[in-house]
Amino acid sequence: MVKKLATLSGCYTYNYEMDSSNSSKQNNNPSPNDDPADEGNEFCPGFKDVDAFVKYGLGTVVAATKSSASLPQVGDEYDFYRSFPGFQEFCETQGDTMLHCMSQIMKYHGCRAQMRDRNKLTGLEERYDLVVDANDVILEKVGILLDDTAGVNRSQQPVMPAGFQPPKIVVSSWNRKGGDSGSSSETFRLLHAKNITRPQLKFREKVDNSNTPFVPKIFIKPNAMKSLPSYFTNKQIRKERPEDLDVPAALADFIHQQRTQEHVEDMFAHPYQYELDHLVFSENQLSKPEPQVSTKCSFIDNVEDLVAVNEKLTKTTEFAVDLEHHSYRSFLGITCLMQISTREEDFIIDTLDLRSEMYILNEAFTDPNIVKVFHGADSDIEWLQKDLGLYIVNMFDTHQASRVLNLGRHSLDHLLKQFCNVDSDKRYQLADWRIRPLPEEMLHYARADTHYLLYVYDRLRVDLWEMGNGQPALLQTVWQKSKDISLKKYMKPLFTENSYMDLLRKQKKAFNTQQLAAFRLLYGWRDKLARQEDESTGYVLPNHMMIKISEVLPKEPQGIIACCNPVPPLVRQQVNELHLLVQQAREMPLLKVRDIIQRNSGLQMGSVSLFLSFVNHICPASVLSCDIFEQISNRWKLQSIEQQHKELEAKKKEKEDAKAAAASVTKKRERVASGTGESNPKPNKKLMKAADKQEECIPPAVFKPFDYSQSDFKVFAGTQPHALVHNLFKNAKGPKSNAYSYHNKSKILS
Ligand code: AMP
Ligand code: MN
Ligand code: ZN
Repeated sequence: MVKKLATLSGCYTYNYEMDSSNSSKQNNNPSPNDDPADEGNEFCPGFKDVDAFVKYGLGTVVAATKSSASLPQVGDEYDFYRSFPGFQEFCETQGDTMLHCMSQIMKYHGCRAQMRDRNKLTGLEERYDLVVDANDVILEKVGILLDDTAGVNRSQQPVMPAGFQPPKIVVSSWNRKGGDSGSSSETFRLLHAKNITRPQLKFREKVDNSNTPFVPKIFIKPNAMKSLPSYFTNKQIRKERPEDLDVPAALADFIHQQRTQEHVEDMFAHPYQYELDHLVFSENQLSKPEPQVSTKCSFIDNVEDLVAVNEKLTKTTEFAVDLEHHSYRSFLGITCLMQISTREEDFIIDTLDLRSEMYILNEAFTDPNIVKVFHGADSDIEWLQKDLGLYIVNMFDTHQASRVLNLGRHSLDHLLKQFCNVDSDKRYQLADWRIRPLPEEMLHYARADTHYLLYVYDRLRVDLWEMGNGQPALLQTVWQKSKDISLKKYMKPLFTENSYMDLLRKQKKAFNTQQLAAFRLLYGWRDKLARQEDESTGYVLPNHMMIKISEVLPKEPQGIIACCNPVPPLVRQQVNELHLLVQQAREMPLLKVRDIIQRNSGLQMGSVSLFLSFVNHICPASVLSCDIFEQISNRWKLQSIEQQHKELEAKKKEKEDAKAAAASVTKKRERVASGTGESNPKPNKKLMKAADKQEECIPPAVFKPFDYSQSDFKVFAGTQPHALVHNLFKNAKGPKSNAYSYHNKSKILS
């Protein structure tokens, strides 16, 4: 049985790889269990084609179902049989074997899989839930694979940043087909990453894509001058029993913190802030050096070797570090590789395998007596914190040195050319670093990133020394700038009601109300799905396609597909959902943002804010089905733009008059009691003050719209919409709005 199930899961892997590769033969990727002798003859070991496999699979399932149905029934029959020790023993071993198989399959698919541990589960019901969950996950994968097979997404290329040449085909022992005799036509594209098992599935600690701020992963603090707050040490105790948490750890913590308001400062502070603030650069760091280089290279993929690396590092006075990162098939990105070079050796560390153990290196990484040399560390510092819980105390960034020296170009290849006369090849920079085993070429490339770095560090310091006329001032500048980079904190991308505006502003598109609403809804859909599926937003729906859909506002689902080439798998899968969102947006009254401004310059800020609030109000991106939408939009549709303006002004005037009359009362009320008998359960004092301020700005007799540009917009964050807007929509009980930030929105017009 075990064997059969293992075969099944093996076939599944194989199947996945077959399906996701291109139909043309040269693009077929080899799978781990691929036997070249059988290739072309068999669909997978033991089966000549899909039909044979399906027939066998179905037969097995039917047989298993029959056997289970003929087992003694629950109740008397079962209890009777169970009184025989032989039967009992047999049931137990069979049960264990089956649970083991199930647990293996579930683990393989990245599901919760503590099926076997009798202590951890109270009973059948919980196991049943696990099976249901796992089935859902597996069936969903099957759906995606079937889509793939049906021809969806066949020509998809890895996404490249603009201006980057697609990498050339590289032939190596890794990708050469059928041993050494393979011709160049039978090679595989190195960057094609479809045959890669998602490394996330093996992570011991689940990735936390929740829409909550990042909480440092640290739980042990080597080289501490100020000890680690208890919050983090306690966190480790919880981490050891992750199965107790139904929500991701950081989310659970966040909820807890929100409730207790304890530790909030600790949670978000840089764990080595104090040590970095008190870092003293040694005399040696500020004097003229003697250049040297390293020779040996080892690949580190187990804890023993990692500990040994750490031992070696703690005995050095400096070492160079670099990382390789993958960001396409994951929401937050994954650090795949760490390269370290000492004066003697190079190490290439598999940070996918050792993700949960990398914190060990904090001993050397935070030791203020050991210099860590990076080139362009900005991202590295964040990735170290995000994935590995690592921090850097005492760093020298060669990129910063290059800037201080005014070298003209500050890339690593430029420095390598200049100081080492090495022509580096940045072709692999965007390779899929999740590939395992790593092909020779990629290892070679990765090694080169740190191999010369200590030498470059020496040479740069000599130049800094000389350029500074034998004074440490320039060196000091580089050390200081590097320290500032070490102090950077990783920030998780957070979704707010206005996130879409940041992206839209960069696009410089003059969207009308419908297009803007569509963009907003698509943006929310994309963010939610990307977090949920642990994919990048670029994988779910690339920006340019999202803009195209928003611009075109296709009437049919097919039109959405037509906006995308190639069609992202998740777009194909959820095209009906997307179509509903576009339909919602199409129901908006058609207004141009610019029209409103030009018509009435006096109304500029106010009307833009109102307009955008309107879009926000009826289409909060976090609430993807807006029941209220129709209600409000129909209301708007019935009125002409002129009418809307008139009504708006009349309402404002009405309100101002009412306010002016009640001005003194309001002030008194604020002083006496805050919020008795208000409909809003927690009246915001700041908001009330803002309302008062508004009263002071506007003479009660003549209506003049409030100039939002002069106000403190922050007071609106996280509160009810501004009174004016609220009043405008008071008849429509729409979904609760989360945040209204007026200053962001106005920028779209510039
Ligand atoms: P490097 O420091 O050059 O080794 O780059 C480290 C990582 O940054 C690579 O593994 C890529 O994930 C990412 N990266 C580097 N250059 C680029 C680029 N031009 N565009 C996008 N990602 C890049
Ligand atoms: Mn780097
Ligand atoms: Zn690198």
